[in-house]
Amino acid sequence: MSPELHERAVEIFETTIGVEYSDQAERTPEWGDAVAKAEETTPATTVTITFASNIPSPLLDRVTAFAADLRRIPTIDAVDVVTIRTCRSCGCTDDQACFGGCWWISDDEGLCSACAPAVPGEQR
Ligand SMILES: [Zn+2]
Ligand SMILES: [Zn+2]
Repeated sequence: MSPELHERAVEIFETTIGVEYSDQAERTPEWGDAVAKAEETTPATTVTITFASNIPSPLLDRVTAFAADLRRIPTIDAVDVVTIRTCRSCGCTDDQACFGGCWWISDDEGLCSACAPAVPGEQR
């Protein structure tokens, strides 16, 4: 049980039974009810993982695995994995373009116009 859930259960136990919480309280059937109620009333938790699209694929695998692990936690209702399109050379994004402005040289490539000529293998 998470500390938050325990705290809620204690609160519910004390308000519904009118008895102060103690270690013995956890052995009573009322405690079980309080825990069940605490679980029911715990607000939905959504986790958002944001990562740059230029991260190396082993790292991306770990992000994906981490997201899958989080989804298995009962108190987490949703895990959003969000990719921020990032230039693989300079790290600029849609929100933070290069000085003077830049654009994506193609739709599927994470490379901006400011870096395009400087990347090896792409000289013109
Ligand atoms: Zn760039
Ligand atoms: Zn750029």
